[in-house]
Amino acid sequence: MTDASYCGRFAPSPTGPLHFGSLVAAVGSFLDARSRDGEWLLRMEDLDPPREMPGAADDILRTLEAFGFCWDGEVTYQSQRQATYRGVLHRLEQKGATYPCGCTRREIRNHAGPDQPHAVYPGTCRDGLPPGRSARSVRLRVPERVISFEDRVQGAVSEYIPQQSGDFILLRADGLFAYQLAVVVDDADQGITDIVRGADLLDSTCQQIVLQQALGYPTPHYLHLPVVVNEHGKKLSKQSHARAVSADHAVATLCTALRALGQPVADEAIDCNLADFWKLAEAMWRAERIPKTRTITEH
Ligand code: GLU
Repeated sequence: MTDASYCGRFAPSPTGPLHFGSLVAAVGSFLDARSRDGEWLLRMEDLDPPREMPGAADDILRTLEAFGFCWDGEVTYQSQRQATYRGVLHRLEQKGATYPCGCTRREIRNHAGPDQPHAVYPGTCRDGLPPGRSARSVRLRVPERVISFEDRVQGAVSEYIPQQSGDFILLRADGLFAYQLAVVVDDADQGITDIVRGADLLDSTCQQIVLQQALGYPTPHYLHLPVVVNEHGKKLSKQSHARAVSADHAVATLCTALRALGQPVADEAIDCNLADFWKLAEAMWRAERIPKTRTITEH
């Protein structure tokens, strides 16, 4: 029996095999959903072919199965949802919520100046493309008000998007839909009520909320887990050469993931089989115990 009032998801990008950091995110979102008798969906965010690794999507699914995760319904693939994203973008365009932009990344960086840590879009094309320029991307007109939400672990978050990123991209110059658009549309279409994911995405959340508001979608509850970093403070990822996680000692590795999330691991958990491990972990899960930090170091 699942509780229709909680629907969570895990949404990996198939840029490489599952590593310990993504396993921790999967464990957190899975246990939060199951401990509330909720549904847990799996979505492959294969939206950006140049960044993907052939075979990684299947590899991730096989690894999740080997760790005993079970998801509800079919796996969804963003690569198969292009028509939906196009329709939603069209709806926003019709409302005047977007505009075509002719600026290159270099122009935006040059405008910001060398001391700026990240380039805020200066709004060059907001009132129309300058003469002689053609459209490269499509941007959302962001509202001039502070966006706030209460994260279940990280606490109160507020952002004034005009100063953080400015009008952000929905359709990229290479013709691909932006992650922000796809994730918001998918979460709404799949009825996701609770998003549990790594705190590296905390800075994207206000942009996603603005898009939800522009589209009349509800805003889900958010829980951003601390991200696992290596001894140099770098997030485990393909770029930081994180090792693929192995399911050879699945229960022991899951116990390490649980400890990273601040959960007590009962002695009997270490020796049990996967099915019993998950039953025990579900019963013991308390989101309140998750460290209230943005990062945790892998040991
Ligand atoms: N696909 C994203 C990633 O692997 C996660 C997106 C999300 O959970 O919203 O980093």
